[in-house]
Amino acid sequence: MAIDLTQKSAKEAAFLERAYQQKQLAHSYLFVDRDEDEAVNTAYWLACLFNCTGEKRPDGTCQNCRQIISGNYPDVLLVTTAGKQSLGIDQIRPLKEELGKSPVQSSCRFFIINEAQKLTLPAANALLNLLEEPIAPVVTILITNNVDQILPTVRSRTQIINFAADEQVDNKTAFLIQNGFTKDQILELGDTRKFDQEIKYFYQEMLEYDLLSIVSAHQLADLAKSKVSQNYVWLMLKKMAQTELNDKDQQAGAKMLQNLLEIDKMRYSNVNFRNLLDYLALQWKR
Ligand SMILES: [Zn+2]
Repeated sequence: MAIDLTQKSAKEAAFLERAYQQKQLAHSYLFVDRDEDEAVNTAYWLACLFNCTGEKRPDGTCQNCRQIISGNYPDVLLVTTAGKQSLGIDQIRPLKEELGKSPVQSSCRFFIINEAQKLTLPAANALLNLLEEPIAPVVTILITNNVDQILPTVRSRTQIINFAADEQVDNKTAFLIQNGFTKDQILELGDTRKFDQEIKYFYQEMLEYDLLSIVSAHQLADLAKSKVSQNYVWLMLKKMAQTELNDKDQQAGAKMLQNLLEIDKMRYSNVNFRNLLDYLALQWKR
């Protein structure tokens, strides 16, 4: 990819700039971003900020910045899979060797490791002491689009910067507004993670014809007491059924949607929420 400093994440860049000014940059970061290119650009932006000789740092135009952006700056190294399936130990070892030498141009090196979820186990293990106690000044930035695929031992040694967190909240709000929720209702709903988890279990158990779906139905009913949270549950179930229909099992998705539409009619005749969930779970078993 071509590096473009303007394609950084402004919010994360502001956060890193503060850390830099306060001399509190961490040894190692884990940038979590669905858009890995944005995270890579932000990592390069930080390396430029550190090394820029211009007035408005980073200007992207001084000699250091230009060298960094073009990949020709000896103290800023990018590690990528280069089209392979994984990042192996052979790609990590040179970083350690590099650290054994003194920096060529800068007082600190930047190692940027893209697609860190593809690190092999030996490569991840080789990284550990680099992340923990580097033998020379270095900022290692791991970039991933899936934090769950990063080894806990690696994760715990990094400062995690989640680029996607705000974006997810914004997307969720937009989705709810599109589906008739008012701003007040969204506020009342609050953090939806507790519902999301239960809804996911419930849906999955129904699909698997698992008797536990009845238990989950009741847990969900206990959790979603307010009208607005109940509306949220129905909306999310429909969204899952729609995704099923479009991307996974068309037949199962269609059947689930059908059942949910039937439930919509019953909702207007004031059948209580718990009974409706039971009905959905039992209906599915037929
Ligand atoms: Zn510059």
